[in-house]
Amino acid sequence: MVALLFLLGLVIGSFLNVVISRVPEGRSIWRPRSACVGCGTSIAWHDNIPLVSFVMLRGRCRACGMAISWQYPIVEVATGALFVLAYLALGPTPNFVVAVVLLAMLVAITAIDLARQIIPDVITLPGIIVGVTANLATGRVTWLESLLGVAVGGGIFLVIILASGGGMGGGDMKLGAMLGAFLGWKIALLALFLAVLTGGVVALGLLMFRRRGRKDAIPFGPFLALGGAVTLLWGESLLRWYLERFLV
Ligand SMILES: [Zn+2]
Repeated sequence: MVALLFLLGLVIGSFLNVVISRVPEGRSIWRPRSACVGCGTSIAWHDNIPLVSFVMLRGRCRACGMAISWQYPIVEVATGALFVLAYLALGPTPNFVVAVVLLAMLVAITAIDLARQIIPDVITLPGIIVGVTANLATGRVTWLESLLGVAVGGGIFLVIILASGGGMGGGDMKLGAMLGAFLGWKIALLALFLAVLTGGVVALGLLMFRRRGRKDAIPFGPFLALGGAVTLLWGESLLRWYLERFLV
């Protein structure tokens, strides 16, 4: 089952690579078929097998020899690994199906934000609806907690945007709202906390090693996605652990 889910994750990851490359440019994800960005040669099906083809071709286009971006195998393996983790955390449940949908969206958002510093509305806005609807179906989070999650997850960023005069983007706000829809307001707050924590540590590390100046923006979407993924799978246990340890 685990091996099967990893393979499924590789295939979905391969589809996400198309989403990541095309959606920010407003191109169709259905056609034309994938082509080399260097020479424009269409990629044959046998050169388009997730992970396997990248290894067989040693990361180069068969026609022109141009290096294929590491984004492709990384996204595929990450998606496969996340699908397995979701199964181990949630088991064969409706919650697992919802988790896989959210994780796929978070992988795409992370890669797009890292590459272009944007978080596309075409993912987050439908994501808010999907999150609320999924919780109505599974009952994992009540409809009220889900809607409060949208308000809290988006609202915190709205306050930051208004207070800082644009230190944070509208894309982060919509992603916060989407996480709130899926996770409910309590777990979403935990996700935000983890995002701020990991984002802060990484920003500090980059500053200390002078990889980034004080003025360079570091995209926050990947940290939100990380916090969202961790709390999606282990949020309730984390919350219980924290409350037992520090509040009792
Ligand atoms: Zn080529």
